[in-house]
Amino acid sequence: SSTRPTNACRSGDFDTSYPVEVRKYLGTYGMIPPAIDNYEAQSERCLKLLSMKQTPLEKFQYLTHLRATNVHLFYRLLADNVKELCPLIYTPTVGEACLKWHEIWTQPEGMYLSWSDKGNLYNVLKNWPHNVEITVVTDGSRILGLGDLGVNGMGIPVGKLALYTACAGIRPDATLPLTLDLGTNNKALLEDPLYMGSRRPKVTADEEREFLDELMEALTRRWPGIVIQYEDFKNPFPSLERYQHTYTMFNDDIQGTGAVVLAGFINAVRHSGVPVQDHKAVFLGAGSAGVGVAKQIVEFFVKEGLSEDEARRKFWLVDSNGLVTNDRGDKLAEHKIYFSRDDNGGKQIQSLSRLIEYVRPTILMGLSTIGGAFNKDILQRMARINERPIIFPLSNPSSKSECTFEDAVRHTKGKCLFASGSPFPAEEWDGKVMTPGQGNNMYVFPGIGLGAILSKSVNVTQSMIYASAEALSTALTPAERAADWLYPDIRRIRDVSVTVTAGVIRAAQAAAVDREPALRALSDQDLDAYVRRRMYDPFAEPRNRADELAAGLGRVAL
Ligand code: NAP
Ligand code: MN
Repeated sequence: SSTRPTNACRSGDFDTSYPVEVRKYLGTYGMIPPAIDNYEAQSERCLKLLSMKQTPLEKFQYLTHLRATNVHLFYRLLADNVKELCPLIYTPTVGEACLKWHEIWTQPEGMYLSWSDKGNLYNVLKNWPHNVEITVVTDGSRILGLGDLGVNGMGIPVGKLALYTACAGIRPDATLPLTLDLGTNNKALLEDPLYMGSRRPKVTADEEREFLDELMEALTRRWPGIVIQYEDFKNPFPSLERYQHTYTMFNDDIQGTGAVVLAGFINAVRHSGVPVQDHKAVFLGAGSAGVGVAKQIVEFFVKEGLSEDEARRKFWLVDSNGLVTNDRGDKLAEHKIYFSRDDNGGKQIQSLSRLIEYVRPTILMGLSTIGGAFNKDILQRMARINERPIIFPLSNPSSKSECTFEDAVRHTKGKCLFASGSPFPAEEWDGKVMTPGQGNNMYVFPGIGLGAILSKSVNVTQSMIYASAEALSTALTPAERAADWLYPDIRRIRDVSVTVTAGVIRAAQAAAVDREPALRALSDQDLDAYVRRRMYDPFAEPRNRADELAAGLGRVAL
């Protein structure tokens, strides 16, 4: 194809830091302002421009433009300012960008495959001019908490793959953002003349399955070994069930979330001083996230020596109808049955505070989307029962968080071990600065993806997902541990991703799904070094080009 996708590496060829010889070699001499910039000047110019933009959405658009015009500089800037820029290229800003995608769209990024392309998907994929190692695919049917946004959902694969590159160094030109245009039931979008997807209702579940069957086969034929990450499907379970044993695929909403929460949980349990077998968890919320997280933690308890049945019975799940029990008289959704209880003697426990008195949990998890549900009374009860209560209000965004960090610290008198889904500022208690943990999937999915790529694994096994969590839980520095942190500083994300990647590779080897036998022989230290060497480094790009030139690889043209 003659249209070049704007996130192709080619955009880096116009880097203002390239010396004259490199510009000549690339054929860009005379097309870039003459001065040779250093990174400090480039970075200062970009950050100044960014600060001139008034709204997060304008900043998002500027960063999109930068990625399109100088991909390496975009990633240098991101690597240097990960904490500040991530909220602008991913949540929360990407949510607003998806809502308005049809109004703010300016340039192609990624690929769209429509229902009308069915039967021809492989040929459409052939249009993509790069060798792809990983794709993030969505059908736009449940974008963040914003519902069905049709092809406006493209912001999610684009943003998520930018994080794969920034955090785990997967080469930008090896990533493919993919949006399935299978119709939408969003009436406002269907009636909007600017909407850019097919104007048809969402296809049925059966039709979607047929389409996905063809897609998985086509992707894998086009790029053997490709890693396929599913994201933001309304019902994420069927595709995971169907493909996880036949393709190199995983679902970050279920598996990434489970893993990242588990990592924080492992550290919280270790900090609490309570033996593993004595923990008990109350979960407010029994949706896909709640059940996914609980199942992941069951595996931890089992690894620590409990039987599966003992582990399962450490959970009390609460949904909108109260404690999930067998005798409640309603038909439980399939995914809740595993944790459904029969030990309440027929008495329905009405309130969360009564349930806490009854169970006396060490752990309180929130995946309910009910902002403020962990109120003063609840938090004080948890602090009365436990020396170090584990409080994880995981609902997003912050307005839906079951409590703020400030409330958790105040009402537990600084005793809580805390992680949330959304970011909160640090708090001071008793002259000590307390930093909240944030269970951000960004800690794990980049390393799961890179681990699958480097080990060339045929599947992404549950043991690889578990390993990502375990590795993350070990990735804290002694200083971070001493300060009671449950997750490492996000600014160290590239180092953290090396640890996670290595853990995932070892798990692939243990499960014998790897196809890169040479890595088996490496010591742990050498494996870390190998992972680091394979990571794309945006700071090395100008140097790489100069080295290529010095090695006489290209023609010098004026
Ligand atoms: P969901 O499927 O809508 O589940 C919500 C659950 O909360 C359901 O079980 C629902 O009950 C229950 N619920 C609703 N109102 C309640 C009430 N008043 N009292 C008790 N329970 C109530 O949503 P989800 O996908 O599981 O996500 C839940 C939350 O987790 C979201 O806010 C999301 O942002 C967050 N999340 C965080 C992360 C992260 O931190 N990394 C990752 C993924 C999701 P019914 O089953 O009876 O409807
Ligand atoms: Mn998601």
